[in-house]
Amino acid sequence: MQEPTTRENPNEDGLVETGRRLEGRRAVVTGASRGIGREIALALARNGADVVINYRSSDEDADDLARVVDELGEQAWVYSADVGEMDQVKEMKRSVEKHMGKVDILVNNAGINRDTMFSKMEEDAWKEVFSVNMNGVFNCTKVFLEHLEQSTYPRIINITSIVGQMGNVGQANYAASKAGIIGFTKSLAKELARKGINVNAIAPGFIETDMLSGVPDEVRKKIVSLIPMRRFGKPEEVARAVVFLASDDADYITGHVLNINGGMYL
Ligand code: NAD
Repeated sequence: MQEPTTRENPNEDGLVETGRRLEGRRAVVTGASRGIGREIALALARNGADVVINYRSSDEDADDLARVVDELGEQAWVYSADVGEMDQVKEMKRSVEKHMGKVDILVNNAGINRDTMFSKMEEDAWKEVFSVNMNGVFNCTKVFLEHLEQSTYPRIINITSIVGQMGNVGQANYAASKAGIIGFTKSLAKELARKGINVNAIAPGFIETDMLSGVPDEVRKKIVSLIPMRRFGKPEEVARAVVFLASDDADYITGHVLNINGGMYL
């Protein structure tokens, strides 16, 4: 039998496991093939949840993640769908129902950025970002709501961004879409509370993923100097908050935006 993890003896990710808080639940994580979404899917599986791994194009990464989830003893269902396309999301739901059953937790994580100064921003850059970041959240929530309404522990967790709270140069499209997610989360939390569905958002600050890898070194240094904790966040630090919001410990929390940003925006 595996030794229980402690601060002195953490698991291979350096974490203390707090138990299988999501045993028997099923989660859909959009944009789960890499970055924050991958860590969210893993953290949910480590806590006993089966996971639907949605992604757009990286088949290999998604299959690799499914193998790891399988090794953890949980079920994984890999499904490629563009969350911005309602027809594809509906197909994904049918496939999930057939192969796994109904889901209890929806994590709207898929997101993209197309950064440029507003004066140079083409309509396409605006529309693409809104298609994934906002329409994707609408489509998945609309389609999977039927499942959540039948669940005993329903949760919707939307991944927004610090940029939606404080704005950022060169990210008017991205910031607007992420601010939209906050308004959506708060409204839906009020609408769905009577059905027992908790709707929350997580607003990460600057997290070390592919999304940050294109940022030039001098800009990275400048950003770090603006973070009180003087470091970027890790995807697993966001994932742990998702597990918390998905767990029974968060039963009375809804409509909340949880900042995970090293103190950069308070
Ligand atoms: P990433 O680029 O590493 O991963 C994005 C994931 O989304 C990938 O799995 C990709 O396949 C998927 N995806 C993209 N378009 C999709 C679509 N149309 N349909 C389905 N899946 C799609 O990004 P990340 O840094 O892991 O970001 C994850 C989320 O966290 C995003 O919503 C992002 O806006 C948000 N966020 C990231 C940071 C950061 O600093 N990395 C900060 C704040 C918020």
